[in-house]
Amino acid sequence: MSVLASASADADIAVVGAGVAGLAAAGLLRGKGLRVALLERGARTGGRAWTDRPAALGGAPFDHGPQWLHAAQRNPLIALAQSRGVAVHPDTPWDDRSLVMDPPGRPAASTAYDDAEARWQDVVRARLGGADTSLARAAQAVADDPWTATIEAWEGAIIAAGDADELSLHDWHANALEGENFVAPGGLGALVAACLAPDAGEVRLGVRVTGIEAEPGGVRVLTDQGVLRAGAALVTVSTGVLRAEAIAFAPALPNHVLRALDGLPMGLLSKIALRAADAERFGLKPATGVFRRLEARGAPFLSTIFWAGGTDLAVGFVGGRAAWALAGRPDEAASFMLDDLAATLGHDVRRHLVPGLATRWGEDACFLGAYAYATPGNAGARAVLGAPLWDGRLMFAGEACATDGLAGTVAGAYLSGRHAAQAMLGCLQPARPDGFPGAARSV
Ligand SMILES: Cc1cc2nc3c(=O)[nH]c(=O)nc-3n(C[C@H](O)[C@H](O)[C@H](O)COP(=O)(O)OP(=O)(O)OC[C@H]3O[C@@H](n4cnc5c(N)ncnc54)[C@H](O)[C@@H]3O)c2cc1C
Repeated sequence: MSVLASASADADIAVVGAGVAGLAAAGLLRGKGLRVALLERGARTGGRAWTDRPAALGGAPFDHGPQWLHAAQRNPLIALAQSRGVAVHPDTPWDDRSLVMDPPGRPAASTAYDDAEARWQDVVRARLGGADTSLARAAQAVADDPWTATIEAWEGAIIAAGDADELSLHDWHANALEGENFVAPGGLGALVAACLAPDAGEVRLGVRVTGIEAEPGGVRVLTDQGVLRAGAALVTVSTGVLRAEAIAFAPALPNHVLRALDGLPMGLLSKIALRAADAERFGLKPATGVFRRLEARGAPFLSTIFWAGGTDLAVGFVGGRAAWALAGRPDEAASFMLDDLAATLGHDVRRHLVPGLATRWGEDACFLGAYAYATPGNAGARAVLGAPLWDGRLMFAGEACATDGLAGTVAGAYLSGRHAAQAMLGCLQPARPDGFPGAARSV
């Protein structure tokens, strides 16, 4: 018998993945007295929420993944952080610190982008009453507006990590992140570690789940280190991992779930970090966001934040197809960013910025993307993926399953993990007297 099996045969629930959803679910289940086996393929907890101090960036704190707590007025992690004594504060509003350039090298008229965005929003929202379509198609009436390509790139590639012609209009609208953003000065990954990891209990790091099989009264969880038996399994891995069939299910997942997965591909948002080579700061104050007007719809788009938190870093964001094209190519990513900044701010930038790092979410087998987006016609796929299977013995949770208007975010992952854990509690019968996992009943 493997070490893993003998050590954990009495788990009530196996939680697969110790990202935000898995940590939140494990914390809730442990709080109800259940025995949880929390299995994580990677070498750390937090999943995509990861604050690091890379040597390539001079040891400055760097969130490879999420850094904003969006939609502050309904984001449960803000109150949680405050209750745990973890510092959070409102970010300076984007409009007060952004510089939109209309090439070559000059700021656009101050209200040009905002006025165009208001027109774009009116046109797109007018289509919400009809059948679902792509965000780009919904904006067809303003296709000729000189700012439409830029607005689409922002809303699509940057915010949703997918291009506007591939995004469901209805899902985009359901998950629009209104209001204030908060930031955590110590990093959002560090916030997750401080607020969620303590309640989640022991995490078995470096354990790759390869299969989940239904058996009478429970599940068998197959891993690269042995088999674990539990009453139920809650799987929080990304749709990228599920679509790659990295975990085999027996019986196979039903067709409606496979169709939901098809409708929720992983988008990619990559961060490219450059460092200042000298004292030159281009006249930009700390945290200034810079992007330029795009000429063509669907063209690669870069948005850069300079010197955030007083660091010497320029962090570029590139999303959607442009990000996938650069995945696994850090040198090309740095060149892409320098070329774009040279066209935006002037060729001088090349002398003063040097490559730092590019994030690796697209090629990391633990994630295979940044976060999921729904394709046109698939706004309902998130609810389908999050519904109980196998009479409640198998559930999926995580950012892709969030149905509370926060899909794709840390808060959505947190709520989805807790929601799934609560649903599982309702499905599980009390544990047998011999202490073996409780059998599931029909839902
Ligand atoms: C670049 C970037 C920027 C972002 N910016 C923001 C932001 O500013 N604000 C925001 O709210 N959100 C943002 N997000 C999204 C946010 O990070 C995610 O929505 C959230 O962290 C997802 O959490 P999760 O628990 O659903 O999934 P994950 O974090 O992916 O957790 C799943 C876990 O499962 C593990 N796993 C995978 N396969 C296996 C296996 N076979 N066996 C065992 N374990 C496995 C993984 O290693 C991972 O730890 C960003 C994401 C990225 C990548």
